[in-house]
Amino acid sequence: LKKGSLLLRNADELVTCSGYSAKRGTEMSDLAIIRDGAVLVEDGIIRAGGETEEIASAAAGTSFESIDAHGKAVLPGFVDAHTHFLFGGYREEEFYWRLSGESYLDILQRGGGILSTVRATRNSPKQKLLEAGKRRLDSMLSFGVTTVEGKSGYGLDRDTEIKQLEVMKELDRGHPVDIVRTYLGAHTVPEEYKGRTDAYVDFIIEEVLPLVSKTGLAEFCDVFCERAVFSIEQSRRVLTRAKECGLGIKMHADEIHDLGGAELAAELGAVSADHLLHTSDSGIRALAQAGTVAILLPCTAFSLKEKFARARSMIDSGIAVALSTDMNPGSCFCESIPLVTALSVMYMDMTAEEVVSAITINAAAALNRADTVGSIDAGKKADFVILEHPSYKYMPYHTGVNSVERVIKEGVVVYDRLKAISY
Ligand SMILES: [Zn+2]
Repeated sequence: LKKGSLLLRNADELVTCSGYSAKRGTEMSDLAIIRDGAVLVEDGIIRAGGETEEIASAAAGTSFESIDAHGKAVLPGFVDAHTHFLFGGYREEEFYWRLSGESYLDILQRGGGILSTVRATRNSPKQKLLEAGKRRLDSMLSFGVTTVEGKSGYGLDRDTEIKQLEVMKELDRGHPVDIVRTYLGAHTVPEEYKGRTDAYVDFIIEEVLPLVSKTGLAEFCDVFCERAVFSIEQSRRVLTRAKECGLGIKMHADEIHDLGGAELAAELGAVSADHLLHTSDSGIRALAQAGTVAILLPCTAFSLKEKFARARSMIDSGIAVALSTDMNPGSCFCESIPLVTALSVMYMDMTAEEVVSAITINAAAALNRADTVGSIDAGKKADFVILEHPSYKYMPYHTGVNSVERVIKEGVVVYDRLKAISY
């Protein structure tokens, strides 16, 4: 995809989120904002950011395209660090079953839930997955997302897991949104291994993990550590082997029950521990000590009508919190960044500043990409979001509504809402 050169100038707020690593605790409040800001971009890379007067004189003599951001806030492109966006089929009926009282785990145990998406994904031709994936990425892009993490875990057998990862690799090449791939074979136990969870763990460890690592199809490995799914010991086996294969590790931890998932993620040096709805005080201390990023997914708690994660305690304990959508066809069919930001300030007691750090630099750190994206700093990819409003403070405030007017990916305008409507 092409890379652009441009001068972005006169932004009321240039919200740089400056930094090359995760912001922990009180650091999350510092957005390093430049008033009347400008950025100079060459061949898709940020050359310099600062006040418009200074940057414009540095750009004098170039013939770069100039974008006037007067009256707008400019932020780094958002990073959605936890999604399951590539899947076959939908589960619209399940949404209503849950609302009438059935639990997520009960539905899974009778062969619904993830297992119904597994059947649909196994039966989906690659072309169909590609088309659905592209549509979903387009939607994410319109919310300002320029880097997304995508998990496998809807094949469970070797070939379908590979198919999912290959489709994401192909989408990454053809779509402006960058995709980071995670192998989640340990998402649930497939029907052919019913009652033989340890044998399925052996299959993951012996057959699939070495393959996805050797072929470079996955960069991370993740496990759904949950009662009646994968125990702490089984999760430990999968993640330990993943580390040996050279993969980064992540965990769905303490989502529905507190099994000590946060503690295990900390012990194994996971890059992130995700969900954490039921994490104990000792789990929070362990994550803080290990420097593991906590990825919180408020839209999932909202969709499951669960209590929200304790973001305030986590940040006050010095943890780097990231926020993501968890977009998936079951527990949270939602890729809405506006809903993430609104729920976070309203129900998790986060400040607007912390929310911005959580969807930019900290989410980038949760994908080992804080050196290339997540902030407006020289040398990073020129991925920006231009809001229709003069301040980032409008995002949670304009509740549930998309404030993103334009998205720039590596110096090229790839989304422009002003051009999307015609009458
Ligand atoms: Zn998930």
